[in-house]
Amino acid sequence: MEAQVARAGQPHDLFWIVAVRANGKCEYCGLDGKENLHILAGFCLDHIIPRSANGGDDLDNRTLCCAPCNLSKLSWNPADGTDGTLTRDALIERVRSYLGPNPPEWPYYVALQKELREGTRS
Ligand SMILES: [Zn+2]
Repeated sequence: MEAQVARAGQPHDLFWIVAVRANGKCEYCGLDGKENLHILAGFCLDHIIPRSANGGDDLDNRTLCCAPCNLSKLSWNPADGTDGTLTRDALIERVRSYLGPNPPEWPYYVALQKELREGTRS
């Protein structure tokens, strides 16, 4: 049976292309979505350079991103203050530094995922 994950505003194929390229992990914090489809389904495609800063929809500017990282990064632009020539990897590294080792929502998110997996959330 093929898994179907509906994502508002995101072409199905694009999500999976980016997800496979990222090996199922959030490219900012490393949270592994392969562990559980429910975790992966909570991931989104982030614009490394936000659309509000004219970041494109091209694959190079898209990254697999967990909800806590997405909520923490918001429209922060890793190209700000640079000469605009950083590589994709360098931009992602700047986002990691900006977010810190663990985004603030991480403990809540992990606890929520555990409760959902175990069916203990009321
Ligand atoms: Zn993350």
